[in-house]
Amino acid sequence: MKTLIVYAHPEPDSLNGALKDLAVSTLEAAGHEVRVSDLYAMEWKAVVDAADYGPSASSPLKVARDSGRAFDSGTLTPDVLAEQEKLRWADTVILQFPLWWYSMPAILKGWVDRVLTRQFGYGVGEYSATKYGERFGEGALAGRRALLSVTVGGPESHYAARGINGPIDDLLFPIQHGILYHPGIEVLPPFVLYRADRLTSEEYRDAAKAWQERLLTLETTEPIAYRRQNFGEYEIPALTLKEGLESTGRSGFGLHVRS
Ligand SMILES: Cc1cc2nc3c(=O)[nH]c(=O)nc-3n(C[C@H](O)[C@H](O)[C@H](O)COP(=O)(O)OP(=O)(O)OC[C@H]3O[C@@H](n4cnc5c(N)ncnc54)[C@H](O)[C@@H]3O)c2cc1C
Repeated sequence: MKTLIVYAHPEPDSLNGALKDLAVSTLEAAGHEVRVSDLYAMEWKAVVDAADYGPSASSPLKVARDSGRAFDSGTLTPDVLAEQEKLRWADTVILQFPLWWYSMPAILKGWVDRVLTRQFGYGVGEYSATKYGERFGEGALAGRRALLSVTVGGPESHYAARGINGPIDDLLFPIQHGILYHPGIEVLPPFVLYRADRLTSEEYRDAAKAWQERLLTLETTEPIAYRRQNFGEYEIPALTLKEGLESTGRSGFGLHVRS
């Protein structure tokens, strides 16, 4: 495997740092190649602006159009080009981050915003009355797998089906389905570590063991069975799930996962 770990935590000596280091050592010891994008250490620029598209950026700025043009002409900034090259190189992508405000840290969202440009992350394929691009099951990054490794302050019950924060699968849906599956990446079930701020050393040992087991079975783990956009399950061009396909008891985000 060729694994890219995109890691977002400001403190190297953090729980997230430890999980990232463990992933690197575990995968390398098993003979896999690993590259790490340590976003804080890289001082990753997290905001999209006109400087991303050089002197030929439109005025007023049109981010999607400018990013696609810069992608096509190879004039994206070197930091973005380097991350796109890492994504092309990788067959497996791990995003390692703490849950902050029910989502990813801003620096990681900024990596997504800047790296997944038009023609690379979205806007791929034919857009017409009968087709709405190559997305959700197809796309420029098809053939890759991804995994979220997330530490969470609250206990698991807060993120259960009836938990006050909403189910963790729902909270992670915008990342797993909207960001990763959208450009064609298959998404493995996440590794979630709850009550992270209160972890005892014994709990850390158990968590580290469970994380290593997940890492060593990445190639054989079944991805989440998200439905594919262009293979008969959605009405075109409305992109609504066809009547009668919903699995019993599934609603909301869950509609888009096959039983
Ligand atoms: C801005 C912000 C927003 C947040 N939003 C949410 C939210 O929406 N929902 C929610 O549930 N939580 C939230 N939290 C809590 C957050 O998810 C946790 O603080 C975070 O996941 C803990 O990860 P960490 O790497 O920062 O932990 P650290 O603070 O580095 O470590 C946590 C504990 O893990 C243990 N530990 C750390 N390193 C090691 C090691 N190497 N070996 C053994 N044990 C170790 C220690 O016991 C330590 O106290 C938020 C926190 C912040 C700052």
